[in-house]
Amino acid sequence: MSEPKGAGGAWTEERRRSDEGRSRPQGGREASEPVSRAAELFTARFGASPDGVWRAPGRANLMGEHTDYNQGFVLPFALGQGIAAAVARQPGPPSQAGRPGWSGRRLVLCSAQEPGARVEVELDGLAPGQVTGWAAYPAGVAWALETAGYRLPGACLAIDSDLPAGAGLSSSAALECAAALALTELAGLDIGRPELAAIAQRAENEFVGVPSGIMDQSASLLGQREHALLLDCRSLETAQVPFDPAAAGSRLLLINTRAEHDLTTGAYGRRRAECERAARELGVPSLRYLTNPADVERLADPVLRRRARHVVTDDQRVLAVVALLTRAAPDAYPRIGLLLTQAHESLRDDFEVSWPQADAAVDAALTAGALGARMIGGGFGGSVLALVRDGAAGPVRAAVADAFARRSWVAPEFLEAVPSARAGRVE
Ligand code: ADP
Ligand code: MG
Repeated sequence: MSEPKGAGGAWTEERRRSDEGRSRPQGGREASEPVSRAAELFTARFGASPDGVWRAPGRANLMGEHTDYNQGFVLPFALGQGIAAAVARQPGPPSQAGRPGWSGRRLVLCSAQEPGARVEVELDGLAPGQVTGWAAYPAGVAWALETAGYRLPGACLAIDSDLPAGAGLSSSAALECAAALALTELAGLDIGRPELAAIAQRAENEFVGVPSGIMDQSASLLGQREHALLLDCRSLETAQVPFDPAAAGSRLLLINTRAEHDLTTGAYGRRRAECERAARELGVPSLRYLTNPADVERLADPVLRRRARHVVTDDQRVLAVVALLTRAAPDAYPRIGLLLTQAHESLRDDFEVSWPQADAAVDAALTAGALGARMIGGGFGGSVLALVRDGAAGPVRAAVADAFARRSWVAPEFLEAVPSARAGRVE
């Protein structure tokens, strides 16, 4: 794969200067590594060459958190890091082919990041609840595709990744999207990407049991290099927004706080319920319909007022960022930085979904000169996104690492975020 424009230069210098806290490839330049490793894993595990290798990126969300289920706006972008799936359409490992009851419609799955035994999933009669653990994501995609009326062949999949799992960078959606593209393209099925995103979301919601929105799969399947994806969660319309921080002398730094988020815990559901109650009390179908933050002051309950204020102001921040990027104003990036920090304060104080490591990372990043920073994802764990001027990433990384060390927290992991290309076949 080609290197994303603007991902070299100063960053490479900084990487040479400090490797502290860094354990994974940065940016998109090494994106081919998981691809070749997945192909090698396939050959080692299945004793044959794959028919092809597909790759799907993770995502970071520039702006719009907890706005998706309120029918509002989100602005994610595809990362250079992602998940590769080496896949072959075949009835299974040769040793299984003569087995009694062998239907040939079986998924055989292995992952370099899950070094246990491979997982075998019978496609006939597949239903939610039958597969647990990591294999539920690709199996869920097969289930959702078949439920939508598409028939798949049996296949072997070998997975490798340079995207940390559970860091709020959507490794789950990347895994689903890599599997979805591989299985459908091998089967000769021509499915539009918005439909495929909905199918992958259904896999995550109904098969895995995580109540997430459509943002992650949309970013992975529709993202474009040097662009962010504006997604209107009411109409499901999308628009590509030019987003190339490197060209404007800036960098995006992801800080994996290594506090693992867990969307299945109750807090996410409680926030959703609070937003629904707030919308009901304000007489609107969803909080998206409110465009003036003053409208939420009519809510009697101070907690609902804070929740609604976050959602309404975050929708406004998405649109403000889109306007700045579209106009390409000279001060666009400093202003986006301020909006990022405001969003963090809103998520921390009004929506109350931040966590101590995220607050400390944001504070340290700002003190060290970041243009802005905020937690991303659903909250209670995951990553922080910081916008920094060229040359400032090193001091920001050092300040964040130091803040964590002083509190005896597990060292954070740093990744460069470069708005990158969507999922697709790479070999
Ligand atoms: P996130 O999407 O933020 O990374 P999730 O909890 O939604 O976090 O998804 C993480 C899960 O996705 C992991 O626990 C694992 O089940 C699965 N997963 C992610 N990456 C891989 C991988 N490389 N191989 C196998 N499973 C993976
Ligand atoms: Mg996820």
